[in-house]
Amino acid sequence: MIKIINTQEFSYFLRVHRNEIIKRWMDKSEVQNVLHRHSLPAIEKNTHLFYQFCDCFISVIEWGSTITECQIKIDFLQLLNNYNVTTADLFTLILILKSSIEQVIFENGNLSFALQSEINSLTLAMANDLASNFETIIKSNENYKSENSNLLSEYKKAVDLSNIVSKTNPKGVITYVNDKFCEISGYTRDELIGKPHNIIRHPDMPREAFKELWDTIKMKKSWNGIVTNMKKDGSQYIVDTTIIPILDVDGDVVEYIAIRHDITELEETKQQLRNINKAMKHKVDELYSMTNSLEKKVYKDNLTGINNRENFENYFDIEIANAKQEDQSLSLLILDIDNFKLINDTYGHQAGDVILIDIATLIGTKIKHGDIFARWGGEEFVILTPTTNVDGAYALAEHLRILIQNHSFSYVEKNLTISIGVAQLQSDDTKTTLFKRADDALYKAKKMGRNRVEIGKE
Ligand code: GH3
Ligand code: MG
Ligand code: MG
Repeated sequence: MIKIINTQEFSYFLRVHRNEIIKRWMDKSEVQNVLHRHSLPAIEKNTHLFYQFCDCFISVIEWGSTITECQIKIDFLQLLNNYNVTTADLFTLILILKSSIEQVIFENGNLSFALQSEINSLTLAMANDLASNFETIIKSNENYKSENSNLLSEYKKAVDLSNIVSKTNPKGVITYVNDKFCEISGYTRDELIGKPHNIIRHPDMPREAFKELWDTIKMKKSWNGIVTNMKKDGSQYIVDTTIIPILDVDGDVVEYIAIRHDITELEETKQQLRNINKAMKHKVDELYSMTNSLEKKVYKDNLTGINNRENFENYFDIEIANAKQEDQSLSLLILDIDNFKLINDTYGHQAGDVILIDIATLIGTKIKHGDIFARWGGEEFVILTPTTNVDGAYALAEHLRILIQNHSFSYVEKNLTISIGVAQLQSDDTKTTLFKRADDALYKAKKMGRNRVEIGKE
């Protein structure tokens, strides 16, 4: 048995027996009553605050003074107040704490009479101090609550006026709709309450969109997106929608609140813009292909699709200037189909046309990048080949001559041949003089029996 004779010994005793005191305190039926009356499992989660409160009490004993404005006390009172604990309940809690302490002391020893009366007066002072603080907290909280509930009803009004609002239970059954909801959907409130929310689902909305929505809100997260809904009359309206899951104290979903803005007009305008855009794109494509075919008309030969004479002459000027400036070789080939008149006469002009196309295609695949191949006119073709001297040009001409000679053309039974005149650019050459040398060579090839390549004299 110990005898406690001063406050140091007493505070030491309280600290040693703190757990025991608190356990006894919280187990007392009066304390339990207070806890249970004011909604409870949550308050048990806050046991640490009771410990802190007890520490406060110990400090008061140690310092022999009233409780100062310490945060622990405020937190504790705030907690009690949140659960609507009254001042009387608070007195009960303190008195039971005191009697729990006395009981623990009694089981372990005793207090001197002087100390006992000191503790009595300290407990009373502490109770008064807490009560007056409690009163202040309650008042400020009540003001806050009423301010808050005014504010909340103002918010609700504002939300209801400017948004389409509905609530559903966790299964999606409608429990609340505001006026705007009824107005836009065309249903009365009675037709909506108790119905599944998909009463306004539009058949055009893809199922996956709703799956994503439900997956999100079931995970207790808010969802936002654009939704097309269906009115009672079957027409549609488009809403920017936010769905917020509302949770209870245990974190379970109790309801969903959906807040929407009508964006039908905006979306329809967007759609119109998209349509206009599409139509414009179509027009631009049309213009582009018109320009393209115009360009082709200007630069390409109608029958064969290769460069026409005008375009060739443009290149001719440029390539001669380039070759002279860069001191590079440049050669010209003029090709003429042998006895083509006869082909026309025998197989018809149309067959002749097909042969012209075939020859252009065949030669087109054989010339290198940078060579300019064109139809000069009739059944004559030209090839301008930069960085190629007369030997290279001759080799190319021979290659093409053999290619044609060995090719079997449709419509024609016997093989076709071509004659080619070749000439290389000289330093004093102009377009005309170079062309003339190649043309003379062609003439020579014809004269010497056709199906030949001849080189223009330098
Ligand atoms: P060669 O050149 O061997 O001296 O005899 P050729 O019969 O080919 O004589 P030339 O080159 O003078 O004849 C040109 C012939 O080519 C005349 C014409 O009937 C034919 N021709 C010209 N342009 C076209 C065309 O666009 N289509 C068709 N089918 N024939 C054409
Ligand atoms: Mg000819
Ligand atoms: Mg000919």
